[in-house]
Amino acid sequence: MHLKRPELLAPAGTLEKLKTAIHYGADAVYIGGDAYGLRSRAGNFSFEEMAEGVAFAHHHKAKVYLAANMVTHQHNELGASDFFRTIRDIGIDAVIISDPALMQICAMEAPGLEMHLSTQQSAVNYETLNFWQEAGLTRCVLGREVSMAEIKEIRANTSVEIEAFIHGAMCISYSGRCTLSNHMANRDANRGGCCQSCRWQYGLFELPELDHKKAVGAGEPGIKEPFSMSAVDLGMIHHIPDIIDAQIDSLKIEGRMKSIHYVSTVVNVYRKAIDSYLEDPEAYSFKKEWEDELWKVAQRELATGFFYNEPSENEQLFGKRRRRPHYTFIGEVLDYNPETQIATVQQRNNFKVGEKIEFYGPGLNNHEETLECMWDDKGEQIEVAPHAMQIVTMKVKQQVAPHDMLRKAL
Ligand code: SF4
Repeated sequence: MHLKRPELLAPAGTLEKLKTAIHYGADAVYIGGDAYGLRSRAGNFSFEEMAEGVAFAHHHKAKVYLAANMVTHQHNELGASDFFRTIRDIGIDAVIISDPALMQICAMEAPGLEMHLSTQQSAVNYETLNFWQEAGLTRCVLGREVSMAEIKEIRANTSVEIEAFIHGAMCISYSGRCTLSNHMANRDANRGGCCQSCRWQYGLFELPELDHKKAVGAGEPGIKEPFSMSAVDLGMIHHIPDIIDAQIDSLKIEGRMKSIHYVSTVVNVYRKAIDSYLEDPEAYSFKKEWEDELWKVAQRELATGFFYNEPSENEQLFGKRRRRPHYTFIGEVLDYNPETQIATVQQRNNFKVGEKIEFYGPGLNNHEETLECMWDDKGEQIEVAPHAMQIVTMKVKQQVAPHDMLRKAL
């Protein structure tokens, strides 16, 4: 079977994350603008930042998609014509969209701007995908609730591009159908304001009398942890052959709010695994180091979501996490001189001389060194780098490169 190379699609909440994701191997990124997106707190892009991001991405042969997938109430669509025309002219490769009113405006007012159906539309069968293709959309992001068997059936019965989530947070509710946050905090999950109410900690009460004295929760006999409805994260790193064989066009990583440490690490690992399978499917084998690498960044435990079966209670975190990441991100390499072996580093978290530091860059060429000496920006020797964004220089014996990252064990 001819293996189609899928697109690896990464989240980019900021310009810095966009550049990081592409540098670490993403074929495309998705961003949010100041309007119509679903992440009102995700550090959305101004038009100037979009233009810079698009120029950077296209220079590296990567694409930029823009999420405009909120539910539009009466009058929210005002200004959408200008918005879509502007992002088309900036060079955005496609808009991720869910509201038919916005689709119609986009198609009429910004011809040439491709439209991708957002996961908010919960497209989980090929008839639905064919409907949206006839409506002019070129790609559909599947609902996370679709199984691998269903994806294969969908693939066999539609020619529209298919995008599927392969890593990141899951909703406990049907994606795009949750109003928990609206009720608990008056923040609309479907208009960019989800406050993740499902992950809060709750007490349980005996019914029917709702006697608060009978509340059980943290500290009560028998139940040591408060109750929550937090789904564990999706992680398909163990199943790369399956997702490539299913001919999914685009493999999506969730998380526009996540850090550059997270984006660089997760993209790096999936890039390596995908390339490794495409290079030689017969010889491919899963490497434990890939999973270990994922566990160096902050995330919940990982499961396969709906791909192979309906998630059970094992795919939920009812109390404390059973496993925690054990590294912290401490800096980024800005420059390196191989002759002097001096690296210029921007600090992101406290570190000091004598500590063991792990350096990593694209391609997972990680190495560890003990920090022997460093200097501040005035050339004074220092023992500690305590200030956020502080520029320091340090001796690094093994070659590193700009955009390589530094982390240390907790
Ligand atoms: S409250 Fe939880 S289930 Fe609902 S949209 Fe937010 S993250 Fe998803």
